[in-house]
Amino acid sequence: MQIIDSHLHFDSFHAEGEVEGLIVRAAEAGVSPLVAIGGSDEANRLAVELARAYPDQVYGVVGYDRDEAGKAHDLDALLDLARGEGVVGIGETGLDYHYSADSAEAQRHLFVDNLDIAAGLGKPVVVHSREADEDTLRLLEDYAGRWTRKDAAPGVLHCFTGSLPFARCLIDLGFMISFSGIVTFKNADALREVAAEVPDERLLIETDSPYLAPVPYRGKRNEPAYVLEVARLLAELRGCELETLAAYTTANALRFFSR
Ligand SMILES: [Zn+2]
Repeated sequence: MQIIDSHLHFDSFHAEGEVEGLIVRAAEAGVSPLVAIGGSDEANRLAVELARAYPDQVYGVVGYDRDEAGKAHDLDALLDLARGEGVVGIGETGLDYHYSADSAEAQRHLFVDNLDIAAGLGKPVVVHSREADEDTLRLLEDYAGRWTRKDAAPGVLHCFTGSLPFARCLIDLGFMISFSGIVTFKNADALREVAAEVPDERLLIETDSPYLAPVPYRGKRNEPAYVLEVARLLAELRGCELETLAAYTTANALRFFSR
């Protein structure tokens, strides 16, 4: 059984010299490839470096996330990096009005810059949205209208925690929806109802490591091997075998992050 972790951050593992061990443990659990997510100059460089060092096990995604809003960026340099070997998408990027409402306008500008690069290169975007669903949808509608590839979705809403109407709007735009360990949390009944409704061909799974470890690891440092717990819960919820869910989410991720 093969299963893909469609979203994780290698930064802290790298700082602690644990990248190799992490990739080995993931592979032993059948979890490969791993999608290394960027978001800052440092994280982008690391994602590309790992994607090139481990071409079969790691895919790279580069972009600027909301924490970078208001800073100066060399978008041509990002474009060069995004065009390069090993990079399969743009992100993560998007809007977070929960933690950083004061930079909302700068976040929207930076999000649009990321979307322009994604649309121009035909590489899908990895989107974060928290308490900003209306603005996220408005900007994604425009972006999806400029997406010309028929063989891959324009993007994914990662670590989905929104409402069913929000999920339906994203699905109508052609987007993928990705669930993290949050879907296993005790108080996540509403989210589980949404997760049951996403069509098979639009579903992705992720850990968002090192954050948000699923039950029974909740509170510990997350790692890609734990994506199995997300898969197990979703399979149960959607009334299918774990192997079936692994097969279609893996096929979805390979199609979406095509190289
Ligand atoms: Zn993330």
